[in-house]
Amino acid sequence: MTSTIAHFIDGQIQAGSSERAQDVFNPATGAVTGRVHLAHAADVAAAVASARNAQPAWGDMPPIRRARVLLKFLELVNRHKDDLARLITAEHGKVFTDAQGEVSRGIDIVEFACGIPQLLKGDYTDQVSTGIDNWTLRQPLGVVAGITPFNFPVMVPMWMYPLAIAAGNAFILKPSPIDPSPSLLMAELLRDAGLPNGIFNVVQGDKAAVDALLEHPDVRAVSFVGSTPIANHIYETGAHHGKRVQALGGAKNHMVVMPDADMAQAVDALIGSAYGSAGERCMAISVAVLVGDVGDRIVPLLAERARTLKVKDGRELDAEMGPIVTATAHARISGYIAKGVAEGAQLVVDGRGFGGAQVGAGCEGGFWMGGSLFDHVNTDMTIYREEIFGPVLVCVRVPDMAQALKIINEHEFGNGVSCFTRDGNVAREFARRVQVGMVGINVPIPVPMAWHGFGGWKKSLFGDTHAYGEEGVRFYTRQKSVMQRWPESIGQGAEFVMPTAK
Ligand code: NAD
Repeated sequence: MTSTIAHFIDGQIQAGSSERAQDVFNPATGAVTGRVHLAHAADVAAAVASARNAQPAWGDMPPIRRARVLLKFLELVNRHKDDLARLITAEHGKVFTDAQGEVSRGIDIVEFACGIPQLLKGDYTDQVSTGIDNWTLRQPLGVVAGITPFNFPVMVPMWMYPLAIAAGNAFILKPSPIDPSPSLLMAELLRDAGLPNGIFNVVQGDKAAVDALLEHPDVRAVSFVGSTPIANHIYETGAHHGKRVQALGGAKNHMVVMPDADMAQAVDALIGSAYGSAGERCMAISVAVLVGDVGDRIVPLLAERARTLKVKDGRELDAEMGPIVTATAHARISGYIAKGVAEGAQLVVDGRGFGGAQVGAGCEGGFWMGGSLFDHVNTDMTIYREEIFGPVLVCVRVPDMAQALKIINEHEFGNGVSCFTRDGNVAREFARRVQVGMVGINVPIPVPMAWHGFGGWKKSLFGDTHAYGEEGVRFYTRQKSVMQRWPESIGQGAEFVMPTAK
């Protein structure tokens, strides 16, 4: 049985006008489970028209009433948390417990957005001049869009739409066509929470839908999360069309292990953050930077753990790692492993031989791979420079912290980074000097909480503001300054010189 996955426009699931569609797979079995519609410009135009029509009344509604709709949504999304997690596992492949975690981290942002009356509070100065006051307020942009990647089909859209909507905008989501189903459940829950039709729309699709959004004159801002080449394209094209853009890109996250670190903790941290979600996380650790004698001590421990990972159908509750998301991604990752060997790195654990037959009946056709581990990788190698986005951990050995910082700061990506040490001063200096947007000290995946905001540096983010947190509120609103005085305080006659405080 395959399902048809359509758009959600003006409060309803709609097939749209395009004949184009693409298969959706269960990566654990390799079976086609659905067909997702791929929008063309007319479908995008219909979604934008609905959003544009609905937004003025929504934007005019007192923020506390908008927050009440989000509070109701919060209740519904909590009730349907496992339904969302099941949809994620079915189309993405990540293990169910990890999918539950993804939904929870998205819910954090909804909770934060419920505080929108406080977040929108402006600044006020009484008496900037005699009888004159000045204040600033923030108003919604209008219609805004979000374009999201396959790897967090619930959490990444939730980095965007709760704040965009709470701030009074209408939102159009263009999810990844690889795992499109959770977007429709979120849309239905928002509608059931009382969100007016047109304030949240989903347009399924690929480049055609994205380009239509980027070119549409009524879309005021675009949030994007995905790979760096596409993030760059979105940033440039969006700016060319006069839009506000934040475009989060790819990553190559390093974890430095100092000789004084607790090795057992460092091993747990590396294994979980390199192989969790099959390495398909923008904050996955993909490079272990082993300082001094750490390499000789830790690589055998890592190898043992990488070989014994529980790679299983994500629905099984003891699974540690599920399949790779698509056959294409599987081939790309295998190609990187072959390249690493060809370029002279030492392949300590090779995950390529792992097959669906080892997982069990029904999974023979799935996109399976075990964890891979490379040692003695140098910074010229392709497997060091490029984002692999799979369960492959590369180890680079360096003599000291200065060299560790040098290679990290010279890398083109700057999303997340981590340092494991017991020395407070080393940790402090590391955090201050590293050229990366999100830093963990003895924390391998330092994804900031909802009220802090998420964003990398360098080629991991194009644009000025980070996602969610107060930066998110700023992104989805524009500031207005109002200066007032009343007739009783107006002076006599026209003024021809620049007004100054009186
Ligand atoms: P992707 O760049 O292939 O796709 C992201 C989105 O862009 C999807 O909606 C896709 O349909 C659309 N898209 C793809 N090709 C396009 C094109 N040519 N023109 C216009 N739109 C296009 O990324 P992905 O494979 O879905 O996700 C994995 C990537 O996302 C990794 O590089 C990962 O690091 C990155 N990512 C980054 C963050 C972050 O916060 N920095 C978070 C999650 C994922």
